[in-house]
Amino acid sequence: MTPLTEPQIRAAFVNCTKGEAKRLHVPRDLGTRPWDDLDFLGWRDPQALDRAYLVAVVDGRPTGLALRRPSPGPGQQRRNMCSVCLTNPAGGVSLMVARKAGKAGQQGNSVGVYLCDDLACSLYLRGRKDAGPGARLPESLTLDEKIERTRSHLTAFITRVTT
Ligand SMILES: [Zn+2]
Repeated sequence: MTPLTEPQIRAAFVNCTKGEAKRLHVPRDLGTRPWDDLDFLGWRDPQALDRAYLVAVVDGRPTGLALRRPSPGPGQQRRNMCSVCLTNPAGGVSLMVARKAGKAGQQGNSVGVYLCDDLACSLYLRGRKDAGPGARLPESLTLDEKIERTRSHLTAFITRVTT
């Protein structure tokens, strides 16, 4: 994806208030991120472990989502596979919940997705980050096809948040 600046990232958020977008944690190392190998930029807030963020380009526009990671309740089934990149990373996957954009969000509606806990889907997919033994099932798809699939899963999730 095209490298983004901090102001572009802050302006991209669609499911939080302007004040929240201004205050939320944005990584300091944007200049050294492997943008060419990213389908989306995802990060966690090191000060607040239940918060995560992602920014992807949808229809040519950077679109950012603020996510919450509710701690799994007792007896809640744990999932292993990321529903975006279909990796089963050693670091685990988490249910991440996005408040819907606009009025639906103000009324308390949200959408959840299982994502790699470190939001490194793009790097696992390309083998740039080791996801651990057996993390990815063998597939006959090419890398480009897997990237295409990952992007479409992510876009589908973002669309559920914004519509
Ligand atoms: Zn993933």
